[in-house]
Amino acid sequence: MKLLSVIVPCYNEEENVPYFYEELKKQEAFFHDKDVELEIIYVDDGSKDRTVAEVRKLHEQDERVHLVSFSRNFGKEAGIYAGLSKAKGDFAVLMDADLQDPPALLPEMYSYLEQGYDAVATRRVSRKGEPPIRSFFARMFYRLMRKISKTEIVDGARDYRLMTRQVVDAILSMQEYNRFTKGIFGWVGFQTKWLEYENIERAKGETKWSFWKLFIYSLEGIMAFSTAPLAIASVLGVLFCFLAVVLIIVTVVRTLIFGDPTSGWPSMVCIISLLGGVQLLCIGIVGQYLSKTYMEVKRRPIYLVKEEL
Ligand code: UDP
Ligand code: MG
Repeated sequence: MKLLSVIVPCYNEEENVPYFYEELKKQEAFFHDKDVELEIIYVDDGSKDRTVAEVRKLHEQDERVHLVSFSRNFGKEAGIYAGLSKAKGDFAVLMDADLQDPPALLPEMYSYLEQGYDAVATRRVSRKGEPPIRSFFARMFYRLMRKISKTEIVDGARDYRLMTRQVVDAILSMQEYNRFTKGIFGWVGFQTKWLEYENIERAKGETKWSFWKLFIYSLEGIMAFSTAPLAIASVLGVLFCFLAVVLIIVTVVRTLIFGDPTSGWPSMVCIISLLGGVQLLCIGIVGQYLSKTYMEVKRRPIYLVKEEL
């Protein structure tokens, strides 16, 4: 008998917790035939609603339902880490509570593991039901990431992923505090089969991602998996030094030949503002990396548990 751990990060998902359970149960027969047992780990990410109570209720009916409840909201990345740490399965799958990751896909995903793949990942091919600006920025982000990061980060990739114990352990071995899961999956490698499906809108409740939150998250992704911005800062510095030398030569020569010492005040202001801006930008980039390093060296735990079932 093998065990499959289903990990479900939940933040204010009181309506979705029981609904998800019901939907997942429909796949049970398939796995039973394959001699695979299921365990469900709901990770409550500091929900303010009745999420924990709903999970407790399920746990009382069905001992295969487990709970890890955080002391506060630590973010989905921390939830994924906690779920994977608790998982005892020979395989683990990450799924959203809102059923945007259809359980009906599980049998197909599992069949690829049987064929010898280490992980089966999913990506959505459409962004139906999403505001157009959001799709536009998302696409820009992935294009940029492909250019500046060596780690493969796939456009439209979801966190819906089935993997073997070996992959789970690899992910758990990455104990960084700033966890950009999409990058971590790419970084660990292994033979991954990609499945595609159309975007499905969330079952109940609302998305926790505002445009601004996504924007900040994308910057974190860039910093976690690329140091290109730091190189940009140095390249800009070299460029401006070169430009300055050229300008000095031009100015000296012009003054010596034409004797025109006072003109150029407006252009001076422009140049000073431009350089000031570029300098602040570069210091800012360095500062961002420094702050990430600062948070890493503190070695704070990725999450704190309040209750476990
Ligand atoms: N989630 C979480 N912690 C958070 C935000 C979200 O555990 O701080 C969970 C949420 O409950 C859901 C999954 O992560 O199960 C995806 O969140 P959501 O549906 O809001 O994101 P979207 O699908 O819109 O990208
Ligand atoms: Mg969702």
